[in-house]
Amino acid sequence: MSAKDTKASKEKEKLHPKDISRILKKCNWCLKKEEAGQPRFKSCAKCKSTIYCSRECQVKSWPLHKNICKAAAKQWESMTEEPDDFKMVRDLKEWHVKFRHEIGHAAMCALNLAETPKEMETQLFIVFLEKSEDPTLPYAQRYHVKYCVNAGMEHCKKHLFGPEGDVHFKHLKEVHEYSSTKQSWLGCMGVVIRYEGIADFTLVRVPPVKVLRTRVYRWDWRPNPTKFLNEALQKGIKIPDPLAAPYSVSFSDEDGNVTNIPEKVPFELDDSVIKFSDGRVSMGPF
Ligand SMILES: [Zn+2]
Ligand SMILES: [Zn+2]
Repeated sequence: MSAKDTKASKEKEKLHPKDISRILKKCNWCLKKEEAGQPRFKSCAKCKSTIYCSRECQVKSWPLHKNICKAAAKQWESMTEEPDDFKMVRDLKEWHVKFRHEIGHAAMCALNLAETPKEMETQLFIVFLEKSEDPTLPYAQRYHVKYCVNAGMEHCKKHLFGPEGDVHFKHLKEVHEYSSTKQSWLGCMGVVIRYEGIADFTLVRVPPVKVLRTRVYRWDWRPNPTKFLNEALQKGIKIPDPLAAPYSVSFSDEDGNVTNIPEKVPFELDDSVIKFSDGRVSMGPF
């Protein structure tokens, strides 16, 4: 390889897609964080967008990763012909990873998953963004949520993605099944970030119903998810990671005040709506 080629491939590498694991520098399977001074985590050789702390984690992840890996590798091949599009996708991904807990919370509120968890199996949450023209705005305020909608999965499959989107829906279904049966999550839902011609399909894990309801009760965005999400983004209101404190009932608000959430959430819930029809998950009311 000539020096010129090496330089070109380094430039190309800089533009390489990063999935959430690579952006956050966390293992895609066990979520361990890459530490400074320690060897860097290796990326998947095929898609290069996902990283793992060990070969063991990569092997465990493979059944869930393989389909999306192929699609990412293929997308990367075609994207190199359009470097500007590629930069736009990367920029957008970094932005929404930064606000993933807020976007995820808006999605769970919009689908009212605290009361109707089954919705995540048939509905997607779509966030339409616009970008500010003001270059002086800080990075975090670069995008503005124009509006959000819930849309039927079948409709999106047909009108938003076409056949090449099938792999994303399949992946969502697999991760949803895995998270709800083998892990303690209630499941996984699909969120699509739309900006200009880009439709970025992302997955949001939905915490167990007790955690979910506690969070929805603390930040009830159900009346207007678009408005509340925009407010959170503009004012820097942070929604905590459900994984970081899975069963905590204390949260601090934007001013750092810690609020204790009562164990009993004072809204009436219909027992039947939180059970899956096969009786597999039956938590609450509590
Ligand atoms: Zn790992
Ligand atoms: Zn891969």
